[in-house]
Amino acid sequence: MERRTWLKSSVGLGALLMAPQMLTAVEQKKFRPREKAFPIRLSSNENPYGPSERVQTAIEKAFVHGCRYPYAYADELAGILAKKHGVSSESIIITGGSTEGLRITGLTFAAGGGEIIAAQPTFLAMMDYAAQWGAEIKWVPVGSDKGYDLDAIEKRIHSNTKLVFLCNPNNPTGTLIPSQNLIDFCNSTSQKTIVFSDEAYYDFIEDSNYPSMIDLVRKEQDVVVSRTFSKVHGLAGLRIGYLVARPALAHEIRKNIVAMSNVLAIEAAKEALKDDAFYRFAIQKNKEAKSKIYETLDYLGLHYVKSHTNFIFFHSKKDIRTLGPQMLEKGIRIGRPFPPFYDWCRISTGTTEEVAQFTKALLEVYS
Ligand code: PMP
Repeated sequence: MERRTWLKSSVGLGALLMAPQMLTAVEQKKFRPREKAFPIRLSSNENPYGPSERVQTAIEKAFVHGCRYPYAYADELAGILAKKHGVSSESIIITGGSTEGLRITGLTFAAGGGEIIAAQPTFLAMMDYAAQWGAEIKWVPVGSDKGYDLDAIEKRIHSNTKLVFLCNPNNPTGTLIPSQNLIDFCNSTSQKTIVFSDEAYYDFIEDSNYPSMIDLVRKEQDVVVSRTFSKVHGLAGLRIGYLVARPALAHEIRKNIVAMSNVLAIEAAKEALKDDAFYRFAIQKNKEAKSKIYETLDYLGLHYVKSHTNFIFFHSKKDIRTLGPQMLEKGIRIGRPFPPFYDWCRISTGTTEEVAQFTKALLEVYS
């Protein structure tokens, strides 16, 4: 039986509205620092369980270093990340959230009339900013499955293409490029232009063999990868991420750094990398939240795209500009509109209780 049909027949309204499973006292202490707040924010793909107790302690300890500039601390983190990814320290650039990494890469390579090719819809930090600096953006719509149309992107590449932006898994669609297609595309495209691979949601990919494009950085190809501590590590408010690129490219990009991050965020990131228990907990809770949201959408007969991230893109069949305020009235903030898909909605995973509130609100709105 098809998964959806099975779910629809087995999950009744009672099961959907069952009281959410609470965290144990130990989990509550280690991973759940805040009281529930209203409205519930399921709009920005954050991880509501962070920062973990271990990371909070590391931040407190780092306070006394607040008188120091962050450079030496960032170098130390770069060394740790270089080891993790099997690259040299010169290949790592610590940034104020990966947003800074996206922006300065666009600025470095495409300012003053260069072209960037990007999917539509996708995460816009690089394109919005680069357009201000005189770059031209060539949009390539996603396919009917909401996934990347790599053939169409390839056809758009020409002599003035400075960069191809891949967001994989993609925000807001949650789709993942099949691994061999990704490898083939990056191998061939990086000989013609720079490929940027935004891997903000990489940790949520369930296939443990799925490749990171850091593999190609190691082979000295023209690929730049961004990663962040905002998602699985739950540090969105601290602003820390990083880029990985071969040293010569990294050298050019580094010249445009402005924010870089700060001592507290850097020490938090170092601890987060060691906190395996929180990492595994966050991934498990995200999986549980997604399956609960899938059940709700199945019950309502709303089609969705299988997500490889911590959010789900679903066909709301209602204009998002109407649905947004309706859900907000019930205490749930959902994702913004993603043109041209005005009757689609992006919903981030929340805690078990937050997802239960989302389910209740959505059932009411669709009743
Ligand atoms: N890339 C993608 C695909 C994102 O969705 C986000 C944030 N939503 C970012 C990068 C930026 O995250 P941050 O600046 O917090 O690292």
